[in-house]
Order: sequence, then structure tokens, then C-alpha cells
Amino acid sequence: MTGTASGIIKALNSGIKHLAVKRFTLRYPEEKLKFVGDGYQFDPTTGVGIAGLKGRHMLFHDHCTGCQLCAIACEGIAEAISMVKVPETWKQNKKAIMPQIDYGKCVFCGLCVDACPFYALYMTNDYELSSYTKEALIYTPAQLQVKPSVAQDAEIVIDDRGATHG
Ligand code: SF4
Ligand code: SF4
Repeated sequence: MTGTASGIIKALNSGIKHLAVKRFTLRYPEEKLKFVGDGYQFDPTTGVGIAGLKGRHMLFHDHCTGCQLCAIACEGIAEAISMVKVPETWKQNKKAIMPQIDYGKCVFCGLCVDACPFYALYMTNDYELSSYTKEALIYTPAQLQVKPSVAQDAEIVIDDRGATHG
């Protein structure tokens, strides 16, 4: 038997074998992961991270003091955070500055969340951030305070073989 013929037979065998195996991946974007929890968070009191997806951030304006620790944490990583003026004034934030995040630079490491001492910055399950322009990847404090609505269509089953959708 020639190498080509045996290769074809092997490929057919493999194809036939996998007909009976449940599909392993999701058909994105029609199907998406069902997330556990709300996204990565950090509790500065206990110093413990709360496991979750590291997607787009959420900023709580009523907690943010403008201390800039998140921006300083990001400096050596991606320089994705700039502190910008916000129109509202808050008693805990006299300078009225808050973080703005450039998702063209962010590597979703979560160090800014770990650095925030005031429960003001969390991450969410939102990972669908693509855009046609670089400018649209820059999220202002006003955009960061909006809780993303993340569709959770597909149930995920974890078994011996790994993760499959139900
Ligand atoms: S998650 Fe993004 S914004 Fe935060 S420190 Fe990492 S790179 Fe910077
Ligand atoms: S998000 Fe947290 S770390 Fe960043 S400026 Fe506001 S309070 Fe400070």
C-alpha cells in the first residue's frame, strides 16, 4: 500500500471514530460559555482574590477615591490606565479623577483590581470587546460603571473528557 493510500485510510478511520464523539468546542458566537460567578474580584480586607473570568472591568464611582493605585499597578504591565477627570464630584474623591482603561493595551492580568484598596474596581465576564477603531477600545469611567449584560446560552458539562456543552 502506498503512503498516500494508507494516509487516506488513517484519516477516514479517524473521521469515522469521531462521528460518535460529542463535539468538544462551542460554536461561537452562537454558543457561549456559561460563566461561574461575576468575574474576578479582590477583597483588600482579607487579601484574597475571588476567582472569576478576567474580562472587562467594572468601576464603582461611589467607592473610587482617585488614589491612582490601579494606574500605578498597571504602569509596569501595560500602561493601559489613565486617570481622567469626571464631571461628578464625590465626597471620597475630591480631585474627581477616575481610571480610564484602554483595552487596546490591557492584558487582563487583574493587578489593578488587586491594587484597589476601596472595592472600586472589579473584572466582569464581558470579553467581547472587539471594535473597528482604537478609540472605541478606550473605556471612560462612565462606560466602566455600566454593568455588562453577558449572554449565557450554553450549559457546560465537565466530565472525564473535559468540558463539553450540554
Ligand atoms: S488588567 Fe489591564 S488595566 Fe489592569 S493592570 Fe492588568 S493590564 Fe493594566
Ligand atoms: S479604582 Fe481603586 S485604585 Fe483605582 S483610583 Fe479608584 S480607588 Fe484608587
